[in-house]
This record gives sequence, C-alpha cells and structure tokens, in this order.
Amino acid sequence: MGFLSRSKDKEKEEPVIEAAPCPHTSLVQRWDLPEEMGDKEKATYICDACAERFSYEQAQQFLEHPSVPALEHTPQ
Ligand SMILES: [Zn+2]
Repeated sequence: MGFLSRSKDKEKEEPVIEAAPCPHTSLVQRWDLPEEMGDKEKATYICDACAERFSYEQAQQFLEHPSVPALEHTPQ
C-alpha cells in the first residue's frame, strides 16, 4: 500500500498558507458623490482581492506596474 505511507508523510507537512502580497490589480471604481460618477480621477479604487482603497494615482501605478512577475505570463 504505497499510497498509504505516502499520505502519512503528507500529514507531517505543515500546510503552506502564504499570504502573498496583493498586486491590487483587480480594482473596482467607486464614487462617493453621484455628480462625480464617471470621472475616473475622482473615483475611489477598491481592490477586489483585499478590499483596500486607493486614489486614482495609486490605482494607476498598480495597473501599470504590476508587482507580481507571474502576471507577465498571463496571456492577454
Ligand atoms: Zn489588493
């Protein structure tokens, strides 16, 4: 029963729960004031993954310079 001993070995390993740094690349636009709606420079950008909020300038940086190298391999 090779697979039994193999699963036992697995139990010894600690689960790797790594908190990878969020690249903040899936940002959702929100506007507090209805009259500013549609003005992307006045929007608040909320990260879909970690719920952090950013200004337009910050959001642009995340979208233009993704910090995660893996994203470079994502096909367009
Ligand atoms: Zn994020």
